[in-house]
Amino acid sequence: MNVFQKDYLMTAGPTPLPPPVSQVMAEPILYHRSPVFIEIYERVLRRLRTVFQTEREVLMFAASGTGAMESAVSNLIAPGDAALVASCGKFGQRWAELCDSYGARTLHLEAQWGERVDPDEVDRALSEASGEVKAVYTTHSETSTGVINDVRAITETAHRHGAVVCVDAVSGLGVVDLPVDEWELDVVVAGSQKALMTPPGLAFSAVSERAHQLAGEARERGAASYYFDWARTLEGQAKQQPDSPFTPAVTLVRALDVALAMIEEETLEGVFARHAVLGRAAREAVKALGLELFGPEDDNANVVTVVKVPEGVEGTAIPKKMRQDYGITIAGGQSQLKGRIIRIAHCGYYGAFDILSTIAALEMTLKELGADVTLGAGVSGAQQVFLEAGIPMAQPVASAP
Ligand SMILES: *Cc1c(COP(=O)(O)O)cnc(C)c1O
Repeated sequence: MNVFQKDYLMTAGPTPLPPPVSQVMAEPILYHRSPVFIEIYERVLRRLRTVFQTEREVLMFAASGTGAMESAVSNLIAPGDAALVASCGKFGQRWAELCDSYGARTLHLEAQWGERVDPDEVDRALSEASGEVKAVYTTHSETSTGVINDVRAITETAHRHGAVVCVDAVSGLGVVDLPVDEWELDVVVAGSQKALMTPPGLAFSAVSERAHQLAGEARERGAASYYFDWARTLEGQAKQQPDSPFTPAVTLVRALDVALAMIEEETLEGVFARHAVLGRAAREAVKALGLELFGPEDDNANVVTVVKVPEGVEGTAIPKKMRQDYGITIAGGQSQLKGRIIRIAHCGYYGAFDILSTIAALEMTLKELGADVTLGAGVSGAQQVFLEAGIPMAQPVASAP
């Protein structure tokens, strides 16, 4: 290990772990039917409801986030059912691939990458499908472009047409306000490895009563799942002493318990406020450096800051050089955006100096790659934001029980 290049993980999953989260995973393995584990499991399920801002049971699976996405398709779609996918990037496309895999008649409304899904276009597509669409699949935070969609408006539109909405909030949950019950979101999926500050391996589906009911009807039409069957998991979790139908990822559940306790201590509002400052600082740094942001100006785009690669610089060289020379891992663009953008994530266990270090390294990297940048200009832009904002939380985040 070269300590001169300490590692900084600035990617949108996996994200860095707070030390207490790492530490609890070194504890001996618990038997999943022991009273000690059941108590932790019950508490985690309750804490998940707080983060999802819901009264409903949040179903938990041992899987990466895509597993929960898959559950939203396998439970609701029988072969031949019409589904509308409203996407604006790489992760939205995944919904379409999943729908195709389960034999849906997939209608795919694709916004330009870097733009938001337009609720009016969703409205038009649903009108053209004349009431046949059972479910609309969309993305809260499109991690490939940094765009945050107007999930509330999309949901209202879908409901007017009698369809349920399934929202991929894998990177946005715990960063930007997403009140699941208040906005009547039918299905919201997330994963453990982004803003929830836990290693990859846990996936969540918050499923409304109406969606459970539709899943029952889809099953009669031939929809099939086994491990991801919502009814089976709900039955286990809703018991007096909650019980997972399969061996839960006990170590990750303990880690998540600690991470969620930290969120509880910071408060959800505090968490949103911190991410808002981090996002604003990153955006101001980019502008102060004379670079251009990718995607619409948006105070809510606080998951990942996406920057256009300046003219004359080899885009794929930026993340590579930052990692190799400075130990700072950021992401480049995927698919059609490869080489055109860089992505700096700040969803989860991040503070002011993660942003400042990253911007400092970005400046050095760009300078070495021949771009016309002034060292310190971006850092100064971010510092200004941090000075003006003060410390956006009541409690330091590093003291979980
Ligand atoms: C990370 C992510 C996922 C899930 O990816 P997994 O690798 O399966 O955990 C899905 N959607 C979005 C928007 C994401 O950022």
